[in-house]
Amino acid sequence: MPLGNVREISWLRRGACRTSDPDLFFPPAPSPVQEARAKAVCSGCQVLDDCRAYAVRSGETEGIWGGLTPQERRRLRFPAGWRQRSA
Ligand code: SF4
Repeated sequence: MPLGNVREISWLRRGACRTSDPDLFFPPAPSPVQEARAKAVCSGCQVLDDCRAYAVRSGETEGIWGGLTPQERRRLRFPAGWRQRSA
C-alpha cells in the first residue's frame, strides 16, 4: 500500500481501521460483503473527511479509503463528462 508523505497521513493513526484486519480494506479478492464491512468501519471514523480527501487527491488506486471504493473515488476525480485536455 503506497502511503505517500508520512506527515500528510498522520491522521491515519486516529482512524477507526487502525485495529482492523488490513485485508478488510485491501482484500486479495474484493467482494460486496467485504466492501460493506469496510465501509461500516469508515462510517464511524473521526478522520473520514481527511482520509477521503487524501485518497481522492493522491489518486489511491487500491482499497477502501474514506468509505469509498477505488471506482467511487475515480468517479469523484473524473466526473461524467470530464475530459483530459491534450497539451
Ligand atoms: S475513513 Fe476508513 S479507511 Fe480512512 S482512516 Fe477511517 S476507517 Fe480507515
